Amino acid sequence: MNLGLDLDGTITESPEYFALLKKAWKRAGAKIFVISYRSDYNKAKEDVERLIGEVDEIILVDSFEGKAAVIKEKHIGFYYDDQPEMMHNIPAEVQVFLVRNGGNFDYHDRRWVMSDKTAKLI
Ligand SMILES: [Mg+2]
Repeated sequence: MNLGLDLDGTITESPEYFALLKKAWKRAGAKIFVISYRSDYNKAKEDVERLIGEVDEIILVDSFEGKAAVIKEKHIGFYYDDQPEMMHNIPAEVQVFLVRNGGNFDYHDRRWVMSDKTAKLI
């Protein structure tokens, strides 16, 4: 089972944590993939290596469905992202982790920021 990480708003939010996580997964013999919406591969690689060091592969996509397809293709069993709408297309057998940041959480209100497309209020 491999590990998948989003870059912006995820790795950038907590690089120390993801660097440690990456080392633990490496030791376990699993692969680490960074999947990003960015379009500049070299800049993405430079940022990933500066923040958490080398990973097995950096894959750039241009849609939510694109991320979900990579997650399936690369046998990613655990995936971190900061955009809840990303989780829609990810199969149930993949465990997902939502990273909190200023874009998806209102610290003043102390509530998540989501649209009714993303969240089902109870
Ligand atoms: Mg993100």
